[in-house]
Amino acid sequence: MSAQRENLASDVLIIGGGLSGAMLAAQLLRQPGQRRVLIVEPRRELGRGEAYSATHLGHTLNGNAARMSVDPDNADDLTAWLGHFIAAGGWPESAEQQVPVAELFAPRGLFGVYARQRLAEAEAIGSQQGSKLEHVQAEALDLTVGEQGVSVSLADGRTLRATRAVLATGMFAAARTTRLSDNALNTAAVDPWDIQAMQSIDADGRVVIIGSGLTMVDAVVSLQAAGHRGLIEVFSRHGLLPHERRQPPAWEDFLATDPTLRSPLQLLRALRGQCRTAQQQGIDWQAPLDTVRVHIARLWSQASERHKRQFVRHVRPWWESHHHRSPPQGAALLARLVEEGRLRIHAASLQGVEIGVDGQPVVTLRFRGQALVERLTAAALINSTGIEYDWRRVARSLPQNLLQRRLVQPGPLALGIAADEGGAVLDAEGQVSRRLFAMGPPLRGLWWESTAVTDVALQAKALALRLAGAGD
Ligand SMILES: Cc1cc2nc3c(=O)[nH]c(=O)nc-3n(C[C@H](O)[C@H](O)[C@H](O)COP(=O)(O)OP(=O)(O)OC[C@H]3O[C@@H](n4cnc5c(N)ncnc54)[C@H](O)[C@@H]3O)c2cc1C
Repeated sequence: MSAQRENLASDVLIIGGGLSGAMLAAQLLRQPGQRRVLIVEPRRELGRGEAYSATHLGHTLNGNAARMSVDPDNADDLTAWLGHFIAAGGWPESAEQQVPVAELFAPRGLFGVYARQRLAEAEAIGSQQGSKLEHVQAEALDLTVGEQGVSVSLADGRTLRATRAVLATGMFAAARTTRLSDNALNTAAVDPWDIQAMQSIDADGRVVIIGSGLTMVDAVVSLQAAGHRGLIEVFSRHGLLPHERRQPPAWEDFLATDPTLRSPLQLLRALRGQCRTAQQQGIDWQAPLDTVRVHIARLWSQASERHKRQFVRHVRPWWESHHHRSPPQGAALLARLVEEGRLRIHAASLQGVEIGVDGQPVVTLRFRGQALVERLTAAALINSTGIEYDWRRVARSLPQNLLQRRLVQPGPLALGIAADEGGAVLDAEGQVSRRLFAMGPPLRGLWWESTAVTDVALQAKALALRLAGAGD
């Protein structure tokens, strides 16, 4: 799949070959007709991105196999694939979970194998009708749009041309705030997934983790695997840990029967009421919560800007910890460490990071509700503060060039970029592009939830149909 020639031309050029780019290519190759698809992706393997490049078995999906199919028409696709994989002797450790295949939480690296296999199958189907996929292993730096199509310049000096291009660039690591001195947070921080690097941390030393979401759970799993025995202190603005994902029973889709709910606070009140009713009946509160997911895109896209802001300000921390739940293995490890007094969670905001005289990171924190700041020295620091969705703050060539060329504009609340409902991007004047499209995390502002496997799978199919149906 590697492209050696200069100045390749294609029908669809996809920038980014993580799960979004790979699944879009797979859907395009399955469409009738002959087409040439190029994916520009610096990683060696397509379909993995950051999430599915994981190599440690403890870094698992946050949903069970029944929830993670890449085929929007077949929810059992991953379950069936995993069943065959395990029956053939793969992933013997799955037996430890003692649940049916559909309820297994698979390692993310294994999910990457599954996604790659589905892409290879689509490639084989496509080649029967003369379609072709090529992987150009490079970073795209700039893009221009002309009458005939798009032109993409790469870091290695090549230029690629295509009738249409799709931005499937995924998520960008959170930007540092200006108060953090000299990039110290990044230079001092250990990668949350780098177990080897963690082996060189003082095993009994205090580790500070900034951010308390799912990346923090992965970081704790990594520390444990690296043999760390000391205190882990987790700091986040609200001090909320992700809840454990359980397997709740079905619950009535109350939003489908009450389309009047509009404001985020109305929604929250109604949802809390449903959760209370469930608990009074001895049913897990996660059952009503899980019915909300399918309505989020509709509710968000219909909401006024005021309601969107209200949601981000008041509901988001609650939504993040209740909806983006932790896989049971990670949650059990955290619960055990909390019980043993080895893990503490604090509500505090990071004010700065410095490197002390002995080379150890020193963090300055302001605890919630307190005026005073505290300084704390750690053996190591892990940054799990998440994602920067505002492209204006992403210090990477492609987003900056696209903004400067006025080919894109920030999306609602500056989350990602603006696009129509089918993923065609809006330029700075609000014109819908015929040539440039986007999918996945860049459309966060359009759909709010636009990142998970199921979001990506649905968008890939819809966009492939649109692109396959478009003329020149
Ligand atoms: C650690 C982690 C764990 C996750 N776990 C889950 C989970 O359990 N379940 C779930 O549903 N979702 C999970 N997610 C969400 C996950 O992001 C999506 O499932 C999926 O990976 C999104 O795919 P993507 O291709 O849009 O983005 P990414 O995976 O971020 O891939 C984008 C790709 O674009 C490439 N790229 C960016 N800019 C350029 C450029 N200029 N030129 C060329 N290439 C470029 C990057 O190299 C990258 O490979 C997780 C995310 C992370 C980060």
